[in-house]
This record gives sequence, C-alpha cells and structure tokens, in this order.
Amino acid sequence: MASKPGILTDWPWKPLGSFKPLVIEQPKAPTGLWTRLSNLTKLTGMIKYCSMQSCFTWPTNTFQELHTQIWRTDSAILIMLLHAGPVDFLYYWLHRALHHNYLYSPYHSHHYSSIVTEPISSLPLVHPFAELIAYYVLFMTPVLITVLTGTASIIATAGYITFVDFMNSMGHCNFELIPNRVSIFPPLKYLMYTPSYHSLHHTQFRTNYSLFMPIYDYITCMSEELNKYGEVYARKHPKLKVKLVDGSSLAVAVLLNNISKGTTQLLLRGKLTKVAVAVAFALSRKGIQVSVPREDEYEKLDKSFGSEGKLVMSKSYSSYKIWLAGHELTEKEQQKAAKGTLFTPFSQFPPKRMRKDCFYHTTPAMEIPRALENVDSCENWLPRRVMSVSRIARIVHGLEGWEEHECGSTISNIDKVWEASLKHGSEPLRIPALSKS
Ligand SMILES: [Zn+2]
Ligand SMILES: [Zn+2]
Repeated sequence: MASKPGILTDWPWKPLGSFKPLVIEQPKAPTGLWTRLSNLTKLTGMIKYCSMQSCFTWPTNTFQELHTQIWRTDSAILIMLLHAGPVDFLYYWLHRALHHNYLYSPYHSHHYSSIVTEPISSLPLVHPFAELIAYYVLFMTPVLITVLTGTASIIATAGYITFVDFMNSMGHCNFELIPNRVSIFPPLKYLMYTPSYHSLHHTQFRTNYSLFMPIYDYITCMSEELNKYGEVYARKHPKLKVKLVDGSSLAVAVLLNNISKGTTQLLLRGKLTKVAVAVAFALSRKGIQVSVPREDEYEKLDKSFGSEGKLVMSKSYSSYKIWLAGHELTEKEQQKAAKGTLFTPFSQFPPKRMRKDCFYHTTPAMEIPRALENVDSCENWLPRRVMSVSRIARIVHGLEGWEEHECGSTISNIDKVWEASLKHGSEPLRIPALSKS
C-alpha cells in the first residue's frame, strides 16, 4: 500500500466491498460466457463440427473487409515509432515525477513495497488507480493515433499491448536472462532494458527511470553529474526532514577491510567515482602502493592525493595479484590479469564476465544481522542474506539518528560508520581467495 494514500490511490470501487466483482467482472462477462459455453459443448458434444462449415460460408466481401484491418505494416511501424519516441520519453518524465515527494508517498511508494520484485509486481492491479490511469493514457496513445489516422490493425494493436506486458513483467522477474555476450552489440544497451537494469531502479531508487529504452537515462545522465552526487539537491533543500545517504563511507570501509593484511601493492582500474578515489587515498596512506594503468586516471588521483600517498602509473597488468575493479573495466583489460588474481569490485555491479581462473569478491556488501528475518536476496548478483552497503548504510544512519547527510563529494567518518554497522549486527564477507584456499 502507498505510504500516504492520496486522491484515487485506491480503486474507486473499493467501497463496494464484496459487491466489487459486479463491477470488475462485468466487462469480462462475454469472455466468461463464451469460455463456459465452450467448455460445456466439449463436455456434452452438443455442437458438432458442422458449425465450422458455416464459418467458411460467410459472405466473401465481409471477410475481405475484416482481413484488410487484421494486419497493416504502416500501423505496426507507426506504433513502434510512437512508442520509441514520445511514449518512452514521456514515461521517463512521468516516472521521475512519480518519484517526487508529492507523488511518491500517495502513489508510487506502493510499487516499492515489493522490495524484491517478481513479475507480478508489474501487474496493473498492484498499482494505485490514478497511476494506472496515467499509464493507460500514455500506452494507448499510439493505438489511438492509428485509429485516428485510419491505419489501425488488430495484430499491431494486440502485439503492442502484449509487448508492453511482456517487457514490463520481464523487467521485474529478478533474474538476468540477457546473456552477457549480447554486449557485443553495444547499441542494444540503449534500446532495451534488462531485469538487472530495472532492479537497479528498485535498489537505488533515483536512477534508471526509463521504461524499456535506457537511452533516456543515458541522455539525462549528464545532468545527474551536474547534481554533484546529490549535493546540489541537499543545498537547495536545507530543511529536508529526511537524510540523504549514499553509503559511500561504508563502501570505502568494506573495501579497505577486503584488502588482506600484508598487501603491499594493487592495481586500480575503473571509473574513478568518489568511492574509488577515497579507497585509493586511504590505501596509499596505509603504505600500500596503488597503481593505475591510465594516464588520465593517474592525473586525477595525483591531484586528489597531493603530496601524500604512494601512487604510480603502471601498464604491467599481470604484475598485480589484487585488482580494485570499477565500472569501466574492459574485458580485454581483465584478460591481462595473471591467473589467480583477486578482483574486488568497487562499483554497484560486478564485472559482466568472470574468469574461471581468478577470484572475485562481491560488490561492496555485508551479511545482514543474524536476527533479521524474512530477508533473502536483495540484489540478484549477491548471495542470500547479503545486502549492498548502500542499503545497510541507510539503515545504520537511521538507527544511529545521525543528523548529517552523506552525499556530495565528501565522505563521512569511515571508522564510525564501519563500527556502527558491526554494532548493529552486519558482518563482513569472507575474502574468496582465502575461503577457497
Ligand atoms: Zn519508480
Ligand atoms: Zn518496477
């Protein structure tokens, strides 16, 4: 249920109570009638195959008229273009609006009450009424336009409705069915979303709003960066009653804990997020040599480190047994690692492909407190009862009642967050290389 129901959050016939089926079932009555009749005839053998004959003796001109409207290529093309253009684009902005405080509590929060999604999470009946009306208006627009332009066809319309249902259910199925090798056709990632893609929307909340085409998320990604990791928003709303917590300090703490004692050097490769920079800085201050293979990344880190730290630029990938891996690590680079290398991802998602002769840590995550019940898998790339640090950090932040936000380019006190997480029962994960040895 929505956290604060508003106008038309509930379906209008809810007050009818047990008389509800009279309204809901009524439109289905013809289908029901024919289904029952059909079942009855099968049972009794009342109507014989002679009825088929009369079907084929329909007047020829009536059949042809019907036939012309069954399939029209221009209808299918028009629906496809209208969906890929205005519908997906308008859905993106409608969805963003639904995440605004004014609409989130009365409507969209309901969809988020299913934390671990299932295909059923996408069903119309599990959405607030007003939200559903908005979706119907949007999705029926291409169909209506084909009707108004005289190009409507039965197969294109039915195909479109089926496509919307199919894609919507797939996005919520909570397991990945798109093989990694599909990435060999890079433009596809802009044109078709995947269960992992939408799962990130459910776990990270303010990202991946697109309907079926992630291109609109990529286009607006630039403006997200201008938001400086939420800092602009926090400054704009100084009296926010909620705290913004991105979990970066706990991510840094977990990553530092994952680097085993005695490590003297490691390689860092991937998009230099604020977590990556903070980890690299903390490691180098501990005396561990951080190597980066790319000049631009070396310069960026060098600037952040100042005169402190042990930072080197090195392209000898195979010399490092421990890699800190981020979002832009390519498969080609991964192949350069020596056999037995331990990869520790600092990004939200793990690498798309994993080498069988190497070890991989999970993305920054912790085991949930043993006392916590009814929690199984939160992210489909993590084991059961393991939760991403971003979620744990938010829970701990709330439990501790900390007043400051954790967003923007700064990182909170790493030790304080780490100790508070352990105090509330979260446990570090074992390092895979050690557990397998
Ligand atoms: Zn949403
Ligand atoms: Zn969803």
